[in-house]
Amino acid sequence: MSITPNQRREFLKKSLAFVSASAAASALPRLDAAACPQSPGKRYSAVSEADVIVVGAGAAGIPAAVSAARAGARVILIEEDPAIGGAPVDMFVTFLCGGPRVGIFNELIQSLNATEDIDGAAHKNFTGSGQHWYLPSSFARVLATLVRRELNITLVTGARVSGAIVKSDGQRDRLLGVEVDTGNGAAPAAFMAPVTIDATGTGSLSELAGAKVMFGREAKTDFGERFGRAIADSKVMPCTLMLTLQRLRPGAKPLDETNLQYAGKLEANVGWIKMEKNRPLFLQRNTGTYLQWGASVLCDTRDPMELGRAYRVAMGMIEDDVAKLLEQGFGVNFAPKIGVRECRRVTGEHILTLQDLKSGKMPDDVLATGVYPLDLWDINEKLTEADKQLPPYGLPYRSGIAKGFEGLLLAGKHISGTHLAMGAYRVQPIVAAFGQGIGAAAAMAAKLKTGVRDVDLKTLQSKLRSAGSLTV
Ligand SMILES: Cc1cc2nc3c(=O)[nH]c(=O)nc-3n(C[C@H](O)[C@H](O)[C@H](O)COP(=O)(O)OP(=O)(O)OC[C@H]3O[C@@H](n4cnc5c(N)ncnc54)[C@H](O)[C@@H]3O)c2cc1C
Repeated sequence: MSITPNQRREFLKKSLAFVSASAAASALPRLDAAACPQSPGKRYSAVSEADVIVVGAGAAGIPAAVSAARAGARVILIEEDPAIGGAPVDMFVTFLCGGPRVGIFNELIQSLNATEDIDGAAHKNFTGSGQHWYLPSSFARVLATLVRRELNITLVTGARVSGAIVKSDGQRDRLLGVEVDTGNGAAPAAFMAPVTIDATGTGSLSELAGAKVMFGREAKTDFGERFGRAIADSKVMPCTLMLTLQRLRPGAKPLDETNLQYAGKLEANVGWIKMEKNRPLFLQRNTGTYLQWGASVLCDTRDPMELGRAYRVAMGMIEDDVAKLLEQGFGVNFAPKIGVRECRRVTGEHILTLQDLKSGKMPDDVLATGVYPLDLWDINEKLTEADKQLPPYGLPYRSGIAKGFEGLLLAGKHISGTHLAMGAYRVQPIVAAFGQGIGAAAAMAAKLKTGVRDVDLKTLQSKLRSAGSLTV
């Protein structure tokens, strides 16, 4: 059945009415849609207001929203996908890397262990690297449950933020809210709050607002990075098409990993199947469900056409492998989106460098710590294994404040840092802990009503220690 543009518009109006109804349930005031006082002259189909808006319900955005909600803020969490979760759900990045696994991220892992463990060897909470994965659908269910329990969160899904409502405010611009497309030329919906968190993973909201963003690899002279390039370029880490496999045919043999050209990583242990001594163990505990890193492709991750091309190229590169897998009796599930490791980074009050991470010094305004080495997916070929090692490091609040802006905080892999530094802190436990810190800061700033730079750091850090997400 096809629908007419009018029917679609009616449907979207009803969807927005639903958003507003859930907003009412969480006591979110609706402003007069025809005349939004903060944006004179602009018409909106609906205007909702909260204390904190989080754009992007992914690895960092969900902990940010939950943390702000638990601090008493009324939160609107906006996600462009129909389902929340971000990379583990829409890119099938369900593998654990790095640590520490603390705070809300630890709650997530405990829930996954309790009900969704694949091989019965529940993952322990520890600092550092560990090898364990869960099904993308498990992340989707557990994360949806986590958010559903927070009555201060109004969730808006299938809603792409396509505009920023910005007012020039003295020496800085002030982000007042965001716009969501309602389609077919209808007026956008507006969501207003004193503090908005860009948790898009791509920095796209910050760019829309007019904040300064970075992309690609810096030159050594830009930030004095010891491993910086002689000349800056616009190369970012490769995108990877992730897939899960499922044994469908009764009696199908365990996956013959060695027969695949893009031999990926499977079950709970990277590469261990290739070690002969582990083979009997693998055959014994073989669960019939596997996670695979498919082909990787370089592209400009800011460009949707390039991403579409990359998905297609990656599919083509593993075509023969897929045919073999189907022959062997496996179902092959491609992630809905190609995995984007790196996109824009937003310039903040402090640009975190690899030297900062290597120094082992905790910044005074630390909001989260990280334990994970430099992992650039081989686009910086000159680094030795020793070069990649890092002591535990701290992520400062200043790297989560967009420079030149009021009311705009950052959570996710696009926080303010160099390409080299983000090559380490980009993994889920670390962006989740920092997101939790930024969510708590946003709730405090929203109460102050003056600005995100006025948050009392000692109080913020003490709240995060009590919540278990800050361990220093
Ligand atoms: C192939 C691959 C393998 C990886 N391997 C690992 C690993 O093994 N372990 C590990 O811990 N990490 C791994 N990572 C890194 C990790 O998954 C990411 O760095 C992390 O998920 C980043 O979190 P984020 O919140 O910044 O972004 P995301 O998790 O991507 O969340 C961003 C969310 O924002 C939404 N969004 C974006 N724009 C808009 C908009 N305009 N309006 C509304 N919503 C929007 C997106 O749909 C998404 O849901 C890997 C990444 C990739 C790509």
